[in-house]
Amino acid sequence: MPALNVALVGIGKIALDQHVPAIAASPDWQLAATVSRHGTVPGVAAHTDIAQMLEAHPEVQVVSLCLPPVPRFAAAEAALRAGRHVMLEKPPGATLAEVHALQNMAAARGLTLYTTWHSRMAHAVAPARVWLADKTVTRAHITWREDVRKWHPGQDWVFEPGGMGVFDPGINALSILTHILPRPVHLTAATLTFPENRQTPIAAQLTFTGGVSADFDWRQEGPQTWDIEIDTDAGPMALRLGGNLLEIGGKPSGGENSIMGEYPALYARMADLVRQGQSEVDLAPMVHVADALTLGRRQITDPFHF
Ligand code: NAP
Repeated sequence: MPALNVALVGIGKIALDQHVPAIAASPDWQLAATVSRHGTVPGVAAHTDIAQMLEAHPEVQVVSLCLPPVPRFAAAEAALRAGRHVMLEKPPGATLAEVHALQNMAAARGLTLYTTWHSRMAHAVAPARVWLADKTVTRAHITWREDVRKWHPGQDWVFEPGGMGVFDPGINALSILTHILPRPVHLTAATLTFPENRQTPIAAQLTFTGGVSADFDWRQEGPQTWDIEIDTDAGPMALRLGGNLLEIGGKPSGGENSIMGEYPALYARMADLVRQGQSEVDLAPMVHVADALTLGRRQITDPFHF
């Protein structure tokens, strides 16, 4: 099958760390153009304006957006209006309503829209989902504690409105949770901790129905923790290392200590969706974040500086 021509928009950390290598390694894809005010990819036609890129590259069938969430809607809208399929980094937008608008726009034009959730492609997530499918979950706890200075150095947008703060990584855990639980849960309470000089939380404690809870914190130095521990009627299971390692009954039961398979899997899924003329839009992880920001009790903590 001929390769699909893709344009990458927002050549920053995730584009260079994951999207460019995943595209380069796949026979399904050809990187035809980039759009970024500063970033470029060697050997690839570089533009600074999306409208100009869309006009100059009618061969681009797919636009993959690696921008932060707030500027993403305008770029997605421009790409859909120009008749191109669109792939969205997580979280798929700054608000739920704007993603619904994109979904309607894509459907009206017969175009593919894919709201990617890279953590769902972690090695142990699919086997965890299969194992849980016929179990009753009695309790679940997410611990997602990492160092914002290590993973988002100088990225002030995460602390601006729409940047989601600690939910930027926390939504990865919620994307796994919403994918593997055999029955959905909903949020009933949240405590959100805001640095006194910032607009978004640096830590969050969440309570859901069904005995499910979550602890997100962006201030953890030293070892980082990305665990989901679940008790069931058939004993405990856990996902560790961001969904990459599986434990059942306290014993290692599969997975792999590597995140490099996630983006190749996302691009393989996008190629399938485009070729089948389908969309995949799942906002369940973002609904929990929106609910936490709606119901959350606010605490103020020390100012944060990178
Ligand atoms: P980033 O490096 O800060 O931003 C990506 C690029 O977007 C920037 O290099 C910049 O390119 C452009 N950009 C930034 N702010 C903009 C604005 N206000 N208007 C227009 N363009 C802007 O961010 P990132 O870490 O790659 O994250 C991008 C998305 O990927 C986020 O939604 C994030 O949650 C997701 N993600 C990130 C990671 C990670 O490890 N960082 C992992 C998985 C997913 P120019 O200045 O060249 O225009």
